[in-house]
Amino acid sequence: MEKLIYLDNAATTALKPEVFEAMKPYFLENYSNPNSVYTFAQQSKKAVEEARETLAGILGAKTNEIYFTAGGSESDNWAIKGCMDAFASKGKHMITTKIEHHAVLHTCEYLEQKGCEVTYLNVDENGCISLEELEQSIRPDTVLISVMFANNEIGTIEPIREIGAIAKKHGVLFHTDAVQAFCHVPMQVDELNIDLLSASAHKFHGPKGVGFLYIRNGIKLGAYIHGGAQERARRAGTTNVPGIVGMAKAAELSVQTMEENSKKIAAVRDHLIERVLSEIPYARLNGHRTHRLPNNVNFCFRFIEGESLLIMLDQKGICASSGSACTSGSLDPSHVLLAIGLVHEIAHGSLRLTLSEDTTMEEADYTADSLKGIVERLRSMSPLYEDFVKNQK
Ligand SMILES: *Cc1c(COP(=O)(O)O)cnc(C)c1O
Repeated sequence: MEKLIYLDNAATTALKPEVFEAMKPYFLENYSNPNSVYTFAQQSKKAVEEARETLAGILGAKTNEIYFTAGGSESDNWAIKGCMDAFASKGKHMITTKIEHHAVLHTCEYLEQKGCEVTYLNVDENGCISLEELEQSIRPDTVLISVMFANNEIGTIEPIREIGAIAKKHGVLFHTDAVQAFCHVPMQVDELNIDLLSASAHKFHGPKGVGFLYIRNGIKLGAYIHGGAQERARRAGTTNVPGIVGMAKAAELSVQTMEENSKKIAAVRDHLIERVLSEIPYARLNGHRTHRLPNNVNFCFRFIEGESLLIMLDQKGICASSGSACTSGSLDPSHVLLAIGLVHEIAHGSLRLTLSEDTTMEEADYTADSLKGIVERLRSMSPLYEDFVKNQK
């Protein structure tokens, strides 16, 4: 097989060598527990607090508003369960969307079993929520609005500023799952009125198993993991020093080059989109054309099974996904594609290609060429496509 073409950056990203170098001393040389009192522990304690400053700085937050976790799923669980628990005296209602990541949706389903009421907002054909529907869904007992910053399957960026303003106007807390967006698009928590925000290092070239939850000062959530007094006694467990150092290094590097990289990646994305839509018949782009993550491409090809597409792309050395890494393996079509109004047959023929700053125009061309051949071949074997073509004539 030729060179690997990795187009699954929404599932995870490559760790940057500089990030690995930054982490290494905290595995090999200073393995100390930052909570210990001796001098040897000072360096790791300092490294963790500097990492907290870096991450807070990127969001325009205060250092004591950043809580380290084991990743996006934990941050989402903590934000949602934590708010519904801490503010139970106000009510049991929360609002989210039909297109959230399962870390949010399954948490909401769990809370429903425990007696909470959840409103799942619809999205339009581009994957955007309606601000009117959001505002109409707010009740006196609404505790929380949780809307993702950007969708992990179709790349649509939600109207976060407007949602933040509505939440503030009605005195409702606003959490956003920013796992796909943090370090990919700029965001400032105060400007956007975000109260809680989830992020995960491995989605921006950092290590797996580490992330953070931003919690605005004054919002008193209980401890999520009970035990030691780490993370201001809210999230127990010996601090993951190398992971945290790596996350901050990855964030720093991403933010330094975010503007130019976004432009570069979006140019490759747009080239790939143009080629596929103009050269492959009955292809459809999913997600908003412009309010979209710079690195996300998502297509549906009629008369094609997404799984067959993935296998044939793999034979060409291309790593892609249909829907999300969490839904692959199940035969159900993606809940996101159904929510934007696609019928089952069409949603089954979906393909997600997520680029990185390392994706070249040549790789995009190779991918477009490969896709063209594969789609033709699969359709030539499809009786449905044959009938369809006959009827068109
Ligand atoms: C990847 C992802 C998560 C889960 O993050 P982990 O760090 O893998 O637990 C949550 N939400 C979104 C939108 C994601 O893309």
